Amino acid sequence: PKPLMAGKKGIILGVANDKSIAWGIAKAASDAGAELAFTYQGEALERRVRPLAESVGSKFVLPCDVTDEASMDSVFETLNGAWGSLDFMVHAIAFSDKDELKGQYLQTTRSNFLRTMDISCYSLTALAQRAAPLMKDGGSIITLTYYGAERVMPHYNVMGVAKAALEASVRYLAADMGPSGIRVNAISAGPIKTLAASGIGDFRYILKWNELNSPLRRNVTIDEVGGAGLYFLSDLSSGVTGEVHHVDSGYHTVGMVAVDQADA
Ligand code: NAD
Repeated sequence: PKPLMAGKKGIILGVANDKSIAWGIAKAASDAGAELAFTYQGEALERRVRPLAESVGSKFVLPCDVTDEASMDSVFETLNGAWGSLDFMVHAIAFSDKDELKGQYLQTTRSNFLRTMDISCYSLTALAQRAAPLMKDGGSIITLTYYGAERVMPHYNVMGVAKAALEASVRYLAADMGPSGIRVNAISAGPIKTLAASGIGDFRYILKWNELNSPLRRNVTIDEVGGAGLYFLSDLSSGVTGEVHHVDSGYHTVGMVAVDQADA
């Protein structure tokens, strides 16, 4: 049988290193036959991203900072020139000042609120605007979110507010782009130890808590998020858009874990 992603071309934004969730999704898409372009933010990360991209045969490793309109324009101009079309986009980008990823949400500053919203939420819309004209035969866009959008999680603070807005953006973009055959979905991943996650206060405790209290009694891997990513990027999910899909060992379904189960 034809590989699931044969003939499909996509862009992956948000690989920082081989621990990145975006890398888990990239590997799954590449293994299934997709052709990939990667972006990196800043020269320090280029040194990490380039060898990873080359290991999956990617010809495009482009700089992109989502706070810079010209840098986003340039990425899509390059892809338009080289490919002329695009089938999918993975948005795995978030940022907040780590001084505000601890303590109380109440203390959030205006400047960090705006910066967090800009990089972690608006960037999906800014990138979707540029991807849409290239997705001539339809397409699939995914982003990454977290349960802190739905419920209060300690230390997640302004990032939880940004993820709530991101999830709402997924629904509005799905409505706008659906008539063009472009689907927009989010994967709500359980906690995973990555560069971005290391900025969140008490992250090791959050990992342990999820391990002890989720139905599967363990944390998820970037390869498991990659599997769900492959589903959303491929035609397997052709009837699905505007969805927020949890890959979190079932943590979001639990009200309270029975004590004997938690101890088992
Ligand atoms: P990561 O550090 O590997 O990836 C974050 C990426 O965001 C990096 O590649 C970084 O370069 C990029 N980025 C930040 N600011 C940028 C900017 N201005 N322009 C362009 N890129 C920028 O960490 P990750 O955990 O893989 O994060 C990927 C996504 O997954 C994020 O949206 C994150 O919120 C989300 N997520 C993470 C977890 C987790 O526990 N790790 C759980 C749920 C959701």
